[in-house]
Amino acid sequence: MSAQSTHQTEYPTTEKDATTESPWERRAIIDLANVRENVKRVAELVAPAAIMGIVKADGYGHGAVAVGRAALQAGATWLGCAHVSEALKLRVAGIEAPLLAWLHTPGTSFAAGIAANIDLAVSGWELEHVAAAATEAAQPARVHLKIDTGLGRNGSTPEDWEKLLGAAARYQEEGLMRVVGVFSHLAVADEPERPETDDQLEAFNQAIALAEDAGFDFEVRHIANTPAILSRPDSHYDMVRLGLGMYGLSPFPGESPETYGLRPAMKLVSRIANVKKVPAGHGVGYGLRYHTTEETYLGLVPMGYADGVPRGAMNAPVSINGTIYPVRGTIAMDQFVVDLGPDIDPEKILGSEVILFGGDGPSATEWADATGSINYEIVTRISPRVPRQLVEGTWGESGE
Ligand SMILES: *Cc1c(COP(=O)(O)O)cnc(C)c1O
Repeated sequence: MSAQSTHQTEYPTTEKDATTESPWERRAIIDLANVRENVKRVAELVAPAAIMGIVKADGYGHGAVAVGRAALQAGATWLGCAHVSEALKLRVAGIEAPLLAWLHTPGTSFAAGIAANIDLAVSGWELEHVAAAATEAAQPARVHLKIDTGLGRNGSTPEDWEKLLGAAARYQEEGLMRVVGVFSHLAVADEPERPETDDQLEAFNQAIALAEDAGFDFEVRHIANTPAILSRPDSHYDMVRLGLGMYGLSPFPGESPETYGLRPAMKLVSRIANVKKVPAGHGVGYGLRYHTTEETYLGLVPMGYADGVPRGAMNAPVSINGTIYPVRGTIAMDQFVVDLGPDIDPEKILGSEVILFGGDGPSATEWADATGSINYEIVTRISPRVPRQLVEGTWGESGE
């Protein structure tokens, strides 16, 4: 050994190595076994309808490629994304299953999408762009026509529907596209007592009838999202679009995923970075919006809004060594504080695991409730600074 090598510590020399930090300090543990179980559970519920696993927004923050593969292994036969660019990433990763992308702008790479065999949703203006792209790609596009049955986002209005059908039929005759699907999206399926879902299904049936009268023969008719999958068997048609439920979360306030046999797939954990004793009346965090009520220990957790932990989630619960503590004070960019009370052993707690949600800790829904949001947002917003650790049914053993 040279004199040098005995006292030099190696350090990362590439950007990739430098950013692949140890997941010891913070990580989102993604249990792909739970994703598979959730897909199988929903497959039982919706059979004979097919499942499109929705992996937009990097799989609701869980990792689109890993979750997409797990979903396909468990029986999903399609994957769906908002953007063509998201679907292209799945193709690049080697996923060959049918893919649908539904949210476009005039700058969308329709030709690349067609060349990569990505099905394209069309609400109106896209039709001409898709036809031109099919010419450019020298390949017919596969199209799903979207009807707005009441949500007021994308989709043809019922007024424009027959015009869209006519134009699509002409392009189909010219060989520029094959219309393989018809679909819509529900607005209030997470509130099963509301009447508008009935109205939307009625409007969907009318749109399908008009299209079939016009000679279209669809491979897939689809409208159900997770809440409709769980509450409206009459919405399943030929295929359901499974997002939230695949990640093991419940779309219904006050009903746990376990009610439906679903298991959360993300566990967000960190470690206690500092512990110290402070007197009663000590302020905590920017704005000093919390003051201790007694002499107590404050624990510092090295995760903040740069990690996607919502800044407004004051009083959200975390679990440390099996005890629940509320977040105290304002969550900062990189860190937040919990009041551990006077009775802890500071040496034991430094470095202890902190579960924000998932596993046997609090739920993403509790974090949503603390910040006036929904569990969809809580998992999806976890930022790229948090390493994702993929496991197979082993997140109880999150040790090192
Ligand atoms: C996100 C999305 C879904 C999935 O909804 P979940 O409630 O998460 O199941 C389905 N369809 C469309 C069009 C979507 O944008």
